Amino acid sequence: MIEIKGTMSFAGGVHPQENKRFTEQRPIELFTVGKQVAILLGQHIGAICKPVVAKKEAVTAGQVIGRAEAFVSAPVHSSVNGVVKDITLQSHPVLGRAMAVIIETDAAADNVKRPCPQRFGADFDASAWDPVRIREAIQEAGVVGMGGAGFPTRVKLEPNPQMPKDVIIINGCECEPFITCDYRVMTEWTHQVLAGVQLAARAAECSNVKIAIEDNKPEAIKIMHKAVRECREAKNIEVVPVRTKYPQGGERQLIKAVWKKDVPVGGIPPMIGVVVLNVATCAAIAEAVVCGNPLTHRVATVSGSSIARPGNYYVPIGTPVADLIDYCGGLDEKIAKVILGGPMMGFAIADLSTPITKTGGAVTLLTKEEITRAKYDRRETPCIRCGRCLQVCPAGINPTRIAHAVKHGMLDVADQYHMNACIECGCCSYICPANIELTGYIKTGKILVARAKKRMPQ
Ligand code: SF4
Ligand code: SF4
Repeated sequence: MIEIKGTMSFAGGVHPQENKRFTEQRPIELFTVGKQVAILLGQHIGAICKPVVAKKEAVTAGQVIGRAEAFVSAPVHSSVNGVVKDITLQSHPVLGRAMAVIIETDAAADNVKRPCPQRFGADFDASAWDPVRIREAIQEAGVVGMGGAGFPTRVKLEPNPQMPKDVIIINGCECEPFITCDYRVMTEWTHQVLAGVQLAARAAECSNVKIAIEDNKPEAIKIMHKAVRECREAKNIEVVPVRTKYPQGGERQLIKAVWKKDVPVGGIPPMIGVVVLNVATCAAIAEAVVCGNPLTHRVATVSGSSIARPGNYYVPIGTPVADLIDYCGGLDEKIAKVILGGPMMGFAIADLSTPITKTGGAVTLLTKEEITRAKYDRRETPCIRCGRCLQVCPAGINPTRIAHAVKHGMLDVADQYHMNACIECGCCSYICPANIELTGYIKTGKILVARAKKRMPQ
């Protein structure tokens, strides 16, 4: 038996109300696609894709519609059978607007894609697959980090003699309140996830793998541990329970907890020999390599106390948030905020035509009362210098000094206080008794610095 209680963790962090109860027991359900999808041409870190379809062109599900033309990029595919209606600017949760291919679905075609976990079992043997071919299949399928960052997975796994990989950490933490899609993927598609883990290890030429799961998910820990033990080829894979604390699923915090190393500020995990992959990404790797399927669908949680049918849905990428909400019972008059993602790190959206992307695993609906209780809407008062924001900051920086500098236009001072080390987790805003939107100030400061740098002569 595996010890469920996790001892590994990081410094700082908070314990927000988990609110997983709305959806954690809801099995993954197929979603019926609506009239149209909007597939963004940039759903990843790196160069955005070049559209390779034209207006009025018929497309089939799985067809490439955006080609990746740079090393750090990933192609995008149609998630439905239909006709290209337009290639135009579309609402984007972070950028405001971004280019997308709008596809009208063919009502006569079968547009329901079924997942394929039954293709994977304890006898899966990754050694039958050539590492180069695994990496090619991952790239062709447009697989990117599905936990939120969207870094192209092939680039992460590419072996580099200058930076050999010591460990692959599989992120099964899902520390954001409300969200349960990764939990369902781990418990329902266990062998598919494990097959993806083994393929990733082979592609990265690194056999040392730790599957990290927060100890508030005992069922996932037990099921994954059992699957690892049953699998002949998974000798160097270990399931490690980690302590439940937000943001335990943050890449840097997870590495610190499991591998006891710090990623340098401005650096990336491969610099210290680490690769972090989300569990849903592993499932996508397995599907891409073994079934030859591109990443056209993902499991997304729709949750909140006021939605009639909260759940975990297998959704075509490009589906408008409005369609998902309608499918789950529609907007209740009590709902005051729609968030793409979770309440800590997600983005509040006003335009419900914003589409689901490869990285967007949740829609959270909050009522006015929940927002007020969580302090999001209360009036800001002066800082009382309690120091709580410093205590909870997992990046070890001084949120109040940085926010003060940004508020007064002193961006150079904010920079000196290591503003760029902020991972935008929201812990400081959450804990602040003066209701100061510290994370908001810091995000604004980062944008202003980035804009100023762009204007500077080379
Ligand atoms: S300063 Fe950034 S990293 Fe630190 S708690 Fe605030 S949002 Fe999180
Ligand atoms: S938590 Fe809020 S009140 Fe306390 S020091 Fe930080 S900014 Fe000031």
